[in-house]
Amino acid sequence: MTAPESLDAGEFHWLMDMLQTIDVGLVVLDKTYRVQAWNSFMENHSGKKPHTVRDQVIFDLFPEIPKDWFFSKTQSVFLLQNRTFTTWTQRPYLFRFRNYRPITGTEPYMFQNITISPLISASGQVDHICLIIYDVTDIATNSKQLQAANEKLGYLSRTDALTGLNNRGAWQESLKAEYSRHKRTGQQSTLVMFDIDHFKKVNDTYGHPAGDEVIKKTAAVLMETMRETDISGRYGGEEFTVILVDTSAENAMIFAERLRKKIEGLTVHHEGIAIRWTVSLGIAPVNDTVSEPMQWVEHADQALYKSKQGGRNRSTHYAP
Ligand code: GH3
Ligand code: MG
Ligand code: MG
Repeated sequence: MTAPESLDAGEFHWLMDMLQTIDVGLVVLDKTYRVQAWNSFMENHSGKKPHTVRDQVIFDLFPEIPKDWFFSKTQSVFLLQNRTFTTWTQRPYLFRFRNYRPITGTEPYMFQNITISPLISASGQVDHICLIIYDVTDIATNSKQLQAANEKLGYLSRTDALTGLNNRGAWQESLKAEYSRHKRTGQQSTLVMFDIDHFKKVNDTYGHPAGDEVIKKTAAVLMETMRETDISGRYGGEEFTVILVDTSAENAMIFAERLRKKIEGLTVHHEGIAIRWTVSLGIAPVNDTVSEPMQWVEHADQALYKSKQGGRNRSTHYAP
């Protein structure tokens, strides 16, 4: 390359040196997408030397570049003389360079932001465009980690730590949503609530950690008995709830009895002692007599209370 007339040879040399060593990628393309300039950032990351890429079509050198997309993106730069951008959130990278960073080594490829600028010649025409490639892997990795952490936090804030079921707050949100859905669509839905029988005795006899094991096992059996679309929750210490979506009260009774019998047959071994327990259940469908979500819960709770009064280890339908 020879120095333009406005610069003396020394100034031109500095300029070229700076562009060579700057920590961003610089690529100049002509109208036929042949490489006219290639700095050391590009050389280092691609392993391709300037003399091997010179006058080569960029798409032949980097088949991963989406040709149609890049073509339409750059045509506006050539024709309208507009600068344009693409960010890692739109497209993680244009050039597939391996990510060798020690800290952000979790990502396989370098994330890139790219600006594409017109290079206007003395005659006012755009015969070349310049790509500037920024390595934004650190930013992208941090942002992705933050997003993952937020998702984890969201999960934790909705989940009961002991059982992995929805906690009371999260479950009540789902209850409201299911109630609204019923009002909108008229689709049937039935609530089952249950409570472990004489649970205080389990704690008093075997200790609190043994009680926790019983709660965990009860939750696990609930999870394996319900459908994937049903919505379970730990409502209180040893009180559980499950919304049986698209299920009649009669079918909910079949579910409740299956669950009750499974739990009746369980044994938890704690410090060499076999512990057995039972649950009492209440069943309440949503219908026109239910005027708000919490009333639906009250119906199920009243039915549960009847099961307790009736001798425990049983399921009862709500009756007004
Ligand atoms: P009932 O058959 O009438 O339900 O009798 P119950 O003894 O189960 O009575 P109740 O439901 O009132 O007792 C709940 C007990 O559960 C009281 C509380 O100490 C215990 N509990 C609540 N949460 C936990 C927990 O997370 N772990 C353990 N181990 N115990 C808990
Ligand atoms: Mg209770
Ligand atoms: Mg109880």
